[in-house]
Amino acid sequence: MAVMITDECINCDACASECPVAAILADDSDKNPFEGERFYVKPETCVECVSHADTPRCAEACPTEGSIVWDMPFTVEFNDYYTEGNEAGTYKIREHKTKGLMLPTVKEQAFMDIPMDARTSHANVMDSF
Ligand code: SF4
Ligand code: SF4
Repeated sequence: MAVMITDECINCDACASECPVAAILADDSDKNPFEGERFYVKPETCVECVSHADTPRCAEACPTEGSIVWDMPFTVEFNDYYTEGNEAGTYKIREHKTKGLMLPTVKEQAFMDIPMDARTSHANVMDSF
């Protein structure tokens, strides 16, 4: 991962088109576990804009403080975290036809070097820059 969209989101649609890897789903997507409520970042796809921008583009575009916050890196170390989050409905990890759930043990994603406490506290992304 990843960054995460919170219930502060006002569904303004400023972020999704900014994402270089199409990791953001609108509130009307049936792949979004928060369908009908808010936008959603797919952690198995988000690369935290590494190799694309110096700051996460979605967070730069977002007008709402606290709407886009840090989450854990999408790495093997956090495989249980994402597995449990998927079971709890916090995430809706894509199911690949042959590889199964696209958890970090199947494919890790890039992440930015930011303090871990910003991730564990789900701090506002733009406050790190
Ligand atoms: S941090 Fe970058 S890659 Fe991740 S959802 Fe936002 S724009 Fe997309
Ligand atoms: S830009 Fe922010 S408020 Fe607008 S849809 Fe994206 S996360 Fe929600």
